[in-house]
Amino acid sequence: RNASPALLELDDVAVHFGGVKAVDGVSFELREGLIYGILGANGSGKSTLLGAMTRLNPLTRGRLQFDGHAYENVPPHRVAHLGVSRTFQTVRLIDDRTVLDNILLGLDTADRAKRKHARARAEAVMERVGITDLARMRPSELSYGMQRRAEIARAIVGTPRLLLLDEPTAGMNTDERDEISDLLRSLKDEGYTQLLVEHDVAMMVSVCDYLFAMNFGKLIAQGLPHDVVQDQGVRESYLGR
Ligand code: ADP
Ligand code: MG
Repeated sequence: RNASPALLELDDVAVHFGGVKAVDGVSFELREGLIYGILGANGSGKSTLLGAMTRLNPLTRGRLQFDGHAYENVPPHRVAHLGVSRTFQTVRLIDDRTVLDNILLGLDTADRAKRKHARARAEAVMERVGITDLARMRPSELSYGMQRRAEIARAIVGTPRLLLLDEPTAGMNTDERDEISDLLRSLKDEGYTQLLVEHDVAMMVSVCDYLFAMNFGKLIAQGLPHDVVQDQGVRESYLGR
């Protein structure tokens, strides 16, 4: 066992939807300062697992700990307060607000009320993800890639201790994908611990420090990226060979 305590710990977490065992007994630990990845075919339970970690999906069973404190009974709106934040697989920006206002919504009410400070922080993260010039536009006026960057900005504006990213490069071309890879690496250098869901194996190997693989709601492998993508079970279930 490692000396430093885990930032996040899942113990036998399950999320069932009626008869569908979307997540079925997942246990793992995330340590501070690394980029973790989850590989898995469509429907293997990746998004549901992120939903369990943010308490959006009710747990059928299992325990969640953040920084040594159990939080499986903490209501979803307070999870951001703990320091866990996420982006969604499909863009969820509000179109009758500006990009800047959308990003400010990533702050809790108390922090948002400190207006000058909140605005400065939002401007800093917009610069960070490369959307400074788009602050006054509506989300629908942005390219898809820029919308995804705005989502990342909204997720980091509150300086979370753990950032969950659900397919942040879905629908992007190779160049945009490389840019997001660089962005995630530089966020890691700034200390952001990340859990990334992506289908692009090459990207996952180049960005992640540690990989998990899921199939039918269960973890089927974990370890160093090169080892996980060589794993026979992972190859059969995910890579189709
Ligand atoms: P992934 O993100 O790996 O593609 P999901 O977590 O989205 O997988 O889905 C896992 C399984 O759970 C799928 O069979 C999916 O149809 C099912 N599922 C996900 N969300 C719900 C829900 N809200 N109600 C019922 N079934 C769901
Ligand atoms: Mg998904």
